Amino acid sequence: MAVLRIFDRLGDRKNMARNRMRYLVNDMGWEKFQNLVLKERAIVRSTQSVITLLEVDHTPNEIKRPIRISDESGVPTSDGYARWLKTNTVKQKQSGYRSIFITLEAGDITANQLNALADLIRDYSSEGKARFGFVQNVALRYVYEDDLPHLYSKLLESGLAKSGALTMTAPIGCSGTTSCNLALTNSHRLAKEIQRKLLELKFDEDDDLRDSSIKISGCPNSCAQHGIATIGFFGGGGRVGKDMYANYQMSLGGRSDGDTMLGQTCLRVPAKRVIPVILKIIELFKQNKKSDDTLQSWIHRVVNNNEDSEIKSINDIKKVLEPLVIPPTKEEDPDFYLDYGNDTSYHTKTGKGECAA
Ligand code: SF4
Repeated sequence: MAVLRIFDRLGDRKNMARNRMRYLVNDMGWEKFQNLVLKERAIVRSTQSVITLLEVDHTPNEIKRPIRISDESGVPTSDGYARWLKTNTVKQKQSGYRSIFITLEAGDITANQLNALADLIRDYSSEGKARFGFVQNVALRYVYEDDLPHLYSKLLESGLAKSGALTMTAPIGCSGTTSCNLALTNSHRLAKEIQRKLLELKFDEDDDLRDSSIKISGCPNSCAQHGIATIGFFGGGGRVGKDMYANYQMSLGGRSDGDTMLGQTCLRVPAKRVIPVILKIIELFKQNKKSDDTLQSWIHRVVNNNEDSEIKSINDIKKVLEPLVIPPTKEEDPDFYLDYGNDTSYHTKTGKGECAA
């Protein structure tokens, strides 16, 4: 909080391209910055509200409020429960507890859902808090395994029980043209469309796809971290004569684990062809995979030219996909020239950004 307040006061708002913490620290010097933070921290502490003070948790891993509010008897479990349990929860090393993950479509949550979430945190998480994650989801830890069917029925009531939180069917989409001035495409809406389609196909239950990811940025600035996605996209514009359409640069093979690497550029995919292209990649994988392959491990071999099946390199994938990305004329398919979530002609007009991106 102290650092944020200093940056808010002293950041360079005239020259937005330099409005970054690193420039501020460099300009004032490390020691002066440290001293300022220490002073500011004292102010933050002394002006903290009573409510905030009560919330300060100095032992984050200690289970402070163990509760058991339900037993399994009499709690109806719907057909989706087993699917949700498999794709949205993780057994904790602490006996009897699971962490549960709520997937939100591209990070969107309503005010009513936030209220419902607050109740769920109080009633089901023994640590009494939730965490927002890097992948646009919410995590509740220390939930009693016995309480899971009851919790699931509560999540269903508030529209928060979508399955697939820990799988490839929960893509990340930055805000895109829904609210970002720098956006070139509606990456936010595209992420929702992909999630709906992949869940409809029950891909969340497919163990071969579990460790892969899809991330979509609305421009090259990478707020959705597309570079480390198994299948990553960043937005731009394409053109047929005078008509423009939303177009994404696709990269394959990015990852952020022990074999961390940036995805390799594959080809440009029009927004309205992104879903067919993803499905085709999955089909190619299923046709060529070895028995213990996941999509991530197969793509990793392909982009590193270590694959010995019919698809040996990223160029082989590109050749198969190229027929899918040929733009039709506007007369043939007017919808192709509208971005997702928009019913007017596509254009690439951007405004002044709110950050240095
Ligand atoms: S600047 Fe960031 S949030 Fe905005 S469209 Fe680009 S990647 Fe998305």
